Amino acid sequence: MYRALRRLTSLNRHFSTMSYNATYHVGTGAVLDYASGYMSQKFGPEVINYFSGSPINRVSFLRGNTAFLSAALPLSKFMLLNNTWDPLSNSAENLYFANYSTVEKLIGNPYSVPEDELIAAYNSTLPVPPTLLFLGLDESDNSSGFKYTSYSGQPYFAIAVGDWDPKVENTEWRRTRLDLKLVRGHAAMLAQARTLLDWNSRNVFCSMCGGRTVSVNAGTKRVCPGTDNGKALIECKSRVGVHNIAFPRTDPTVIMAIVNSIGDKVLLGRQRRWPEAFYSTLAGFCEPAESIEEAVRRETWEESGVKVGRVVVHSSQPWPYPASLMIGCIGEALPGGEDIHLGHDPELHMADWYDIKFIREMLAKPARGLDEGPPEGFKEGDIRLPPSTAIAHQLLLAVSNNFHGGLKI
Ligand SMILES: [Zn+2]
Repeated sequence: MYRALRRLTSLNRHFSTMSYNATYHVGTGAVLDYASGYMSQKFGPEVINYFSGSPINRVSFLRGNTAFLSAALPLSKFMLLNNTWDPLSNSAENLYFANYSTVEKLIGNPYSVPEDELIAAYNSTLPVPPTLLFLGLDESDNSSGFKYTSYSGQPYFAIAVGDWDPKVENTEWRRTRLDLKLVRGHAAMLAQARTLLDWNSRNVFCSMCGGRTVSVNAGTKRVCPGTDNGKALIECKSRVGVHNIAFPRTDPTVIMAIVNSIGDKVLLGRQRRWPEAFYSTLAGFCEPAESIEEAVRRETWEESGVKVGRVVVHSSQPWPYPASLMIGCIGEALPGGEDIHLGHDPELHMADWYDIKFIREMLAKPARGLDEGPPEGFKEGDIRLPPSTAIAHQLLLAVSNNFHGGLKI
């Protein structure tokens, strides 16, 4: 697979749609093949779900370094997202990235002064600049020539542009929520951009004193400034010690393929609003102070009445609507705990056990998303399952392939 990746010669080679489920993207930007490693031998290769597998090294420790950000800015590429977080796109598969010259009038250089000076200069009578978010460096692309100390690669930013439109030919603002067709790298970068820009937009006021906050750390933190146009603001606890800043949130969600105690059936459910014959695995939010395994057992029992024993984590998937991290699990029902009861929580319209052989057959058929009609060849007696971009599909594949992960997306 690694050799195959290297053979691709297009500029977008690292954004390839091809599956690299036997490869890892590590922080250094390299794509390594660990399929022969002892962990992969034991547990199967890692599954890299849609919205993950980013080509970007986030270099998070450089986000507060305005010298680095200032040097990166003129050589960067910029993802643009409008008021509803639709990204400007070339097609369903590829995002559009603007050069600095296109966005310079909009953003200038907010990194021309150190961060503490920027906070001290806060003035509520000035217009709020568009939120600018540093995504990181694509170290596999050195075409821009950008280098800062020992760090090099193509720098990427995302901008919340609001109503502004650069009017670039052959581009459009695309709704991407249900249309999961982006090449892998672009999908992962969009997830990062969307989650963080959305978080910034929801945290413009301080949760302690109600005053306005200022975006810092290249869009990944917000602070409550102590002064406004040189005048001291009311005291705020958020300015003391480590409470000085508001951090982005990530909401853990469990999604689980539950297998019966003999291991030949899997539990599926459907919501009333889903298209006819569409089924998926059960899912729900992790509650505070609850382990992933406990959340799987609680959610499964609440939604279906099924009592679950052993739970293992299979893979995970960022879900930027707005800030979920879906933790995909496989769980085993307890002997005698397999009766379906929908009376606890009204979330599911229906839940039932399905023969794993039948699920394997259904997974092999073409799949379409929740917003689309039935796929070609759909016939009476078939059920519809989520497409391969959904982690639910990967969990069902794993279950129907003898619990092994690392399956083709
Ligand atoms: Zn405050």
